[in-house]
Amino acid sequence: MVRANANYGKLKASYLFVEIGRRVSAFQSEHPDRQVIKLGIGDVTRSLPKVVVDAFHAGVDEQADDATFRGYGPEQGYPFLREAIAATDYASRGCPITADEVFVSDGAKCDTGNFQELFAADLSIALPDPVYPVYVDTNVMAGRTGAWNNGRYGGLTYLEANPGNGFVPPPPSHAVDLVYLCYPNNPTGAVATREQLGEWVAYAKERGALILFDAAYEAYIRDDSIPHSIYEIDGAADVAVEFRSLSKTAGFTGTRCAFTVVPQRITVADDTGARHRLWDLWNRRQSTKFNGVSYPVQRAAAAVFTDAGQQAVRTMSDYYLANAAKIRATMQRLGYDCVGGDNSPYVWVRTGSDSWAFFDDVLHRAAVVITPGAGFGTMGEGYVRISAFNHADKVEEALERIKAALS
Ligand SMILES: *Cc1c(COP(=O)(O)O)cnc(C)c1O
Repeated sequence: MVRANANYGKLKASYLFVEIGRRVSAFQSEHPDRQVIKLGIGDVTRSLPKVVVDAFHAGVDEQADDATFRGYGPEQGYPFLREAIAATDYASRGCPITADEVFVSDGAKCDTGNFQELFAADLSIALPDPVYPVYVDTNVMAGRTGAWNNGRYGGLTYLEANPGNGFVPPPPSHAVDLVYLCYPNNPTGAVATREQLGEWVAYAKERGALILFDAAYEAYIRDDSIPHSIYEIDGAADVAVEFRSLSKTAGFTGTRCAFTVVPQRITVADDTGARHRLWDLWNRRQSTKFNGVSYPVQRAAAAVFTDAGQQAVRTMSDYYLANAAKIRATMQRLGYDCVGGDNSPYVWVRTGSDSWAFFDDVLHRAAVVITPGAGFGTMGEGYVRISAFNHADKVEEALERIKAALS
């Protein structure tokens, strides 16, 4: 008889955005006349830049002609894209990363979720609280945690982000094997300094740990002293994998292109003591289970790394950052402490009250959707996340309504 993976039974019943959707639909059916504005889910609203769309169209045209048609591509991604990424995102910042170490994919969600497959079932894991839920849930599915109890899974080390540590938790005092980090952070919007990332690299070297570094929001960094890549830290290529995505940086949430950097020099021992190159393991995993990103999408993605594409990324991220600055200023004027919004599209607002109650209050009184912090972990209680991903006029209207409702 077919039987289910019992680990799925440990997953917390209601996924955050499902519960938000349920409450928003209930509100809409009670108040069909009110126009709801969404500053909740982390999805972009601006269209793809013209330089990207032109390359996308050209890629489609190539597929329409026998002379230029391409079938299955290399699982790791086309060299034209991997080389553009290595040059633009890494060589230009002095990071020792080559095109061979870049794996193109259809999303950082899948990559951050799939990467844990490469490791033993009994690894110890540290991850942020509050957290991007993918890191946690994929390890729950794989059986690396105990049961859900009081807002946490047994067996995980939670790195608590709080005002005391400036929302950048330091390494734990004990050893863990695998560490998930995300900077600029989703949901808090906090960024890690060179010194703070340096502490993590030193920790990983000392303890034999591996860092999985999610840099999905690096394009939002405006403070020049903040590293965009963990590989800006000396020695990080010995102990860290980096995930990036074009989703939030170039508007690719519906087009799908991301990449993961696996340095060739990282090796991992298995239970017999034999060492494997991490690159070989990920390459084997990807070439077995993944057949590459569509050719026109890779052409579109390559355009992001041209001068015009980089200019467009800057314009797009500036647009959302201007929204974020307004959100932060308004919430601060209303008396709330805020983090993020300066090097990140998210503002993390300290409400000091039950975060679902605050969510309901803003929904009912202002018809604005935000995200309750408790949905991201126990340390999110007492906070809400407000996203800058919407049209500027909608953000302004939402803020007027929030001001009227909460003043
Ligand atoms: C949005 C986001 C991603 C990107 O996911 P894609 O699958 O590439 O769209 C990755 N990590 C975090 C923390 C995110 O918020």
